[in-house]
Amino acid sequence: MAKRGTTGFIAKYWGYLVFALAIWGWVAVDDKIKIAPVLIVLSLGALAYFLFKVPHQCGAINRQAKPGQDPRCRNNAKGLMFGCHLMQHKRQNFLQRMGIGKWREANRGLWINPKECLASVVALTSIVSGIGGLVVAIVKPG
Ligand SMILES: [Zn+2]
Repeated sequence: MAKRGTTGFIAKYWGYLVFALAIWGWVAVDDKIKIAPVLIVLSLGALAYFLFKVPHQCGAINRQAKPGQDPRCRNNAKGLMFGCHLMQHKRQNFLQRMGIGKWREANRGLWINPKECLASVVALTSIVSGIGGLVVAIVKPG
């Protein structure tokens, strides 16, 4: 019984172990270039675990909540990107995590007339240009 419990615990929370190994690799190993592939694999594994596997509470806004009741769903869910078994909660959490609502809010007023469009396009191009310059400076110093 105890052995099965331990196995279940590891099966449920393996991502924390992978994350701890990755952090340990960063802290304890001096020659990080040699272990870079391992660090990348551990980091991607931990990321995948937290996005798609970690057990947590759904937290989506429940539309059928009564007044005075906490509107957040308390069902169990897997992965930070999605919600519980309810499809609407999965979609709601996914869109929220992707920042779709905030993106729509941030874009309000940026594309209302040609002048605003031009300013928005120039600002975005400047950002891309700045990032490009930074990448060139890092890749080819001097
Ligand atoms: Zn839910």
